[in-house]
Amino acid sequence: MSLTITTTKLPLRTLLSKSAKTCCTIISLAPRRQFFFKSWSRGARVQEEPGWRPAVYGPSRRTKEQVKQRQEQQQESKRAKDQGAAVKDTSDVGHADGKLAKSIMVNIDGDPKVFDTVFLRDSCTCPQCVDPHSKNKLFQTSDIPADFEGSYKAVVDADKGPSIELEWKTDVKGYGPDHRTRHSIDWLRRALNTEVELRAFIRHDDRVLWDKNKIVKDNKWVDYESYMTKDETLFDALTHLNKYGLLFIKNVPDSEQSVVTLASRVGNLKDTFYGRTWDVRSKPKAENIAYTPMFLGLHMDLLYTSNPPHLQLLHSLRAGAPGGESFFSDSFAAAHQLKRQSESMFRTLCTFPVTYHYHHPTYHYHFTRPVIELFPFPKYSEPTNLAIRRVNWSPPFQAPFEARIGSNNSTSLRSFVAASHAYEKLLSAEENLYEYRLNEGECVIFDNRRILHARKAFDATKGERWLKGAYVDDDVFFSKLKVLEEKYEGKWVAEGVVREAVK
Ligand SMILES: [Zn+2]
Repeated sequence: MSLTITTTKLPLRTLLSKSAKTCCTIISLAPRRQFFFKSWSRGARVQEEPGWRPAVYGPSRRTKEQVKQRQEQQQESKRAKDQGAAVKDTSDVGHADGKLAKSIMVNIDGDPKVFDTVFLRDSCTCPQCVDPHSKNKLFQTSDIPADFEGSYKAVVDADKGPSIELEWKTDVKGYGPDHRTRHSIDWLRRALNTEVELRAFIRHDDRVLWDKNKIVKDNKWVDYESYMTKDETLFDALTHLNKYGLLFIKNVPDSEQSVVTLASRVGNLKDTFYGRTWDVRSKPKAENIAYTPMFLGLHMDLLYTSNPPHLQLLHSLRAGAPGGESFFSDSFAAAHQLKRQSESMFRTLCTFPVTYHYHHPTYHYHFTRPVIELFPFPKYSEPTNLAIRRVNWSPPFQAPFEARIGSNNSTSLRSFVAASHAYEKLLSAEENLYEYRLNEGECVIFDNRRILHARKAFDATKGERWLKGAYVDDDVFFSKLKVLEEKYEGKWVAEGVVREAVK
């Protein structure tokens, strides 16, 4: 498919012009690029700078000449700063086009903020740059010249409100001289906040950790009909599910299709080798312990795959067999408890590799991961902000360890065993377990990367027990949650940062 750039004229938006009251001051910042240290002397180092620390300043001490250059550089940057301040003070509000520059300074909420013109050009959403229907970008970042420059003026856009309009010196190939880019002040503010939050490791996290008492008090039951027909109910349900990792639906129709209908309300179902949906009922010579009437300990599903399912749905179709109670445990809460008990055990579970597998004649899955995964440092996690991304715990599906098995490494294996013992104790502690026996017509939905599930043995000879299950991927779940967040709260969360919905 070839990509053509249309020459559609920009839709005429009402320009309330410069006389309109705008909340922004736009001023020119034409930075003079200076190159220092252009002549690293290879000659004799006379009178090197005193107090030079290689670990801080680099491998070579600077010569007297270089020290002089550095002082000049500092003076120059101070001059540039003062100049910037002068430009700011004498600027005209919303005046005509400014000078061409690589960066521009926009006054947002009283503070001058600098934006790279490459960023502003790259983010252009005009119909020439982003297809209005597909929302696909019609040019590439790599098409923008490296020495890109632009100028700008203040406008009030009919749709976007107070905005800046940018004009480009040498635009991307294929764009005519009439091409303009507009960004609202609200959009610029959001871009700035996002960057600041990402850099400052501010992480939005509204998950609520729970133990038995908390979940008994906070548990949510949602009516099937309301969940299926009202977006408000769905938003409320999915928000709760994201916070607690656990949700119950009642009055679910007695049909094998119901679990599909429930999952489809979130999005596409995740298909696995178990099928698009699967049945949990006992059968002879079962290929999975789940398909027996035996006790099944706390675990997560499909950890032997590279992207295990995020949501798991279990709809109870038949609950005639005595026993078979379900258990749930919040692995994140237990991880926090373990960290308070022993920092070193917590670290062991963050690092020691555990292999999971599904090794059968027709399918052979194999994946290795640590028990606790944190958000990558330093973006989100820091010692004071324990940002657990997910937990991996599925003893029945563990494979032999593949690392640290030799006698030289037995210390780390022994450390892992001790840490996993302590963690297991917390996971299955009476006060951390939530027990519930699903009745017919009820469906539980839980976060398979956080909430462990287990089941007591049941007596298959005295009645039928039949659960119908389905999975939904993380991308699908978070997409739906963002759509609803945007609709009902005017904001959405991605990568741990709250983003205001702005034009
Ligand atoms: Zn454009």
